[in-house]
Amino acid sequence: MNNIIPDTMYVPRFLGEGRIGPIEKLVPEPGPGQLLIQVKANALCGSERGQFFNGTEVTPGHEAAGVVAAAGPGTTTPVGAAGVVFLMDFCGECRSCLRGRTNQCLAKRGDMGFNRDGGYGAYELVNETIFFPVGEDISPAEATMLLDIMGTGGHAIERALKMELAIGSLLVVGAGPIGLGVLAMARLLLGEGLPVFVTDVVPYRLNLARDLGGQPLDVREQSPQDGLRAHGQERVDVAIDTSGNALARQAALPAIDRDGSLVCVGHGGELTLNVSRDVIAPERAVLGSEYFRYDELPANLERLRVHRAYLNQIITHRFGVDEIQGAFETFWKGETGKVVIEQ
Ligand SMILES: [Zn+2]
Ligand SMILES: [Zn+2]
Repeated sequence: MNNIIPDTMYVPRFLGEGRIGPIEKLVPEPGPGQLLIQVKANALCGSERGQFFNGTEVTPGHEAAGVVAAAGPGTTTPVGAAGVVFLMDFCGECRSCLRGRTNQCLAKRGDMGFNRDGGYGAYELVNETIFFPVGEDISPAEATMLLDIMGTGGHAIERALKMELAIGSLLVVGAGPIGLGVLAMARLLLGEGLPVFVTDVVPYRLNLARDLGGQPLDVREQSPQDGLRAHGQERVDVAIDTSGNALARQAALPAIDRDGSLVCVGHGGELTLNVSRDVIAPERAVLGSEYFRYDELPANLERLRVHRAYLNQIITHRFGVDEIQGAFETFWKGETGKVVIEQ
């Protein structure tokens, strides 16, 4: 092992009740097929709310970018390679993985940052199969956008395309980081001419959506459909819910046209369907979209290179790891885009 790697490291421990404090952990040594990543950046995610408020012994962080600090036996990635960590430690051998559906692995070994130590520590141990090299022209903070922003956002668009290739209008429910990612990827994948309406209740986020080319719908005092009408649009072909909020998701349903689709990306809450009225008669589809496939990363890396300045607008705040408490408090207030911890 490289002798500049320390034996121990301080990592932020999520103590519960919204408190984070440093603890010391051993720096793990990579075994066969494993890489030790020196983390350079890790983006905050709304899905860490439970860990922040309830606490966890696992080191969170599932949107990590860094460099290979040490490589275990049988690996081919060179020490020093820069890249990102895919959240799902997929097996590579099951029926889903063999079909490329690595986000639906049937024998997943773990979820980084949830049941395996993740990217808020100085070092993260990963199986080489979930490391994706990006090259040195992409900064670590930018590289994190390949994950929940471009990956999850783009996959939701791919899901919608399974139902309708000629999407003529899109409604994105929620302008949090995933909603902004869906908006950005809709413009990159479906063209800048596509009208993309984005709902939220936080003016800061609606302004960010406007800056990214979306048409903001403030739903504090109107339904999404009334908002659409104000833009001269009666209904949309596709709605993508990133809010995970039952009321917001439900309110999007009447705004979807006949033969249209609702794609659910935001976890949580319910959706009530009057099957005849909401699904059968109008021939609508409801689809789930979970994270993304590992094999979506190469094309997104090329898109990131081409559209770097546009995508960088999504990152609005950067903090050092010693400021992680304040970073989360700022993030929960809602007046941010993507928040990135750098170290
Ligand atoms: Zn996330
Ligand atoms: Zn598998």
